[in-house]
Amino acid sequence: MSDFAGKTGLIVGVANKRSIAWAIAQATARRGARLAITFQGRFEEHVHELAEGLDSPLILPCDVSNDSEIDAVFAKVGAEFGGLDFVVHGAAFAPRDELSAPFANTSREGFRTALDISAYSLIALTRGAMPLMESRGGGSVLTLTYLGSERVFPNYNVMGVAKAALESTVRYLAADVGPKNIRVNAISAGPIKTLAAAGISGFSSILNVYRERAPLRRNVEAAEVGEAGAFLLSDAGKAITGEVLMVDAGFHATGM
Ligand code: NAD
Repeated sequence: MSDFAGKTGLIVGVANKRSIAWAIAQATARRGARLAITFQGRFEEHVHELAEGLDSPLILPCDVSNDSEIDAVFAKVGAEFGGLDFVVHGAAFAPRDELSAPFANTSREGFRTALDISAYSLIALTRGAMPLMESRGGGSVLTLTYLGSERVFPNYNVMGVAKAALESTVRYLAADVGPKNIRVNAISAGPIKTLAAAGISGFSSILNVYRERAPLRRNVEAAEVGEAGAFLLSDAGKAITGEVLMVDAGFHATGM
């Protein structure tokens, strides 16, 4: 498997070995990609440790709510890689209180923060990547979303609203950057026990419902999302853009 030989990618959203973005990083690195991986403040050590097994990775700080940090990432990636073939956007955040309180209590600040970090950041990262991708004749951007964008899941709250904005952003960006041969897609993953998921009250009951009702009668693994991500980012997905691919053991197809 060498479909990423000679390709370079930027991975945003790795906190630890359970991170979905890390699974996609591994799936592309295994196929020959050279990666830049960003970390948010407190995850620096984890990310450095994980990246030890990769072939000359670039490890950079990036808080996606900070435009100058985003600019610095693309300046470094440009200087080091000379171009960029793909970006994985796996950053999402909502203040903990917003993921347990009644939805009607969503604060203005909580809403702003969730939408900024979880949705706007895809626009900022895609804009930053564009010149580097154009120099390669095109590229591919992939983000991660959840079915809570369309349906109500207990306590997912403002994150569901942010994911709806994120999926719409995927379509608008895809239309905007498509003429430059840059593709923008999302994977809507089934629930997976990660650090971000731990912030959602009652998350384990969502896992149980999927296990009982999804057509495949199981939950999905991060590695499976990694493989689907590699497919969308690779040339195998080169006619796919503006798409939200469900990787959820089929749960989205069920009525009850
Ligand atoms: P995770 O906690 O491993 O990853 C979330 C990442 O967001 C972390 O790396 C964190 O550092 C980053 N982040 C948060 N605020 C940031 C900021 N200001 N700047 C930069 N990075 C920031 O959890 P995960 O489940 O792997 O989440 C990755 C993506 O997958 C998220 O978009 C999440 O909503 C989505 N997703 C998760 C599930 C699930 O069940 N775990 C299901 C569907 C979609």
